[in-house]
Amino acid sequence: MKLIRFGDPGRERPGVILPDGTGRDASAVADDWNESFFASDGIERLRRWIGSAAASAPVLKDGVRLGPPVARPSKIVCVGLNYRDHAAESGQAVPAEPVLFMKSSTALSGPFDPILIPPESTKLDWEVELAFVIGRRSAHVSERSASEHVAGYTVMNDVSERAFQIERGGQWVKGKSSDSFAPLGPWLVTPDEIPDPHALALSLKVNGQTVQNSTTSQMIFGVPQLVSYISRFMTLLPGDIVSTGTPSGVGLGFKPPRYLKIGDIVEPSVHGLGTQRQTVAPWDSRGG
Ligand code: ZN
Repeated sequence: MKLIRFGDPGRERPGVILPDGTGRDASAVADDWNESFFASDGIERLRRWIGSAAASAPVLKDGVRLGPPVARPSKIVCVGLNYRDHAAESGQAVPAEPVLFMKSSTALSGPFDPILIPPESTKLDWEVELAFVIGRRSAHVSERSASEHVAGYTVMNDVSERAFQIERGGQWVKGKSSDSFAPLGPWLVTPDEIPDPHALALSLKVNGQTVQNSTTSQMIFGVPQLVSYISRFMTLLPGDIVSTGTPSGVGLGFKPPRYLKIGDIVEPSVHGLGTQRQTVAPWDSRGG
């Protein structure tokens, strides 16, 4: 199943893309794809609805805006330096344990929304990532049972401001959390459609040029390890997002470094999970 959310920012409604490719309003199933939906076996409810009533649900208009495919979660947990080649281009050692950091949940945006350059930004960068969404409350989960805790997979652009991240002291969170720094989607794809999340090609283009091109088989720590590991330090709630790290090819790794400017077009893609497209825009162009 492919879950989407559609409509204006902050007023999105839940929907699905059916196997025939049509988008349908799924408001009949739940208010939103949020914590209570995932916590109450909503995915199974949705599956039954698709088998019975979805074909008569309202069809979505062409060109409707897509929001992030899950409602704003309690947290977005990110994994740093989870690809060897990216650790090398960042001048960092390959970590012995997963490097974790947080991204503000208010950074979440739709897959085709603009990336807004914050005031003071000078080093705006991209990071295509495989992300997964937690399906059930997870505290001290074993690796063996970890897959039961994943509701689905999606694409994240872990947009990063390197000066804020690296040159302003303290933790990375400052460079990761501005509004529009977490484009998510276009779809949340359930695990039955992604038999192996560790065999997905992923890439990112800037102005049509491929700058990142790798596969999730290169990840150092895989999905079950990450669920289990993170759940030893914090409770993951249904609907929480975990972004699994980026391969090489970010702007920071170019010689000299290459950063985004207004008008640039960024296209992150993960095989089977869809392609995003963002235009870099001034901060004061934000609506709502
Ligand atoms: Zn990242």
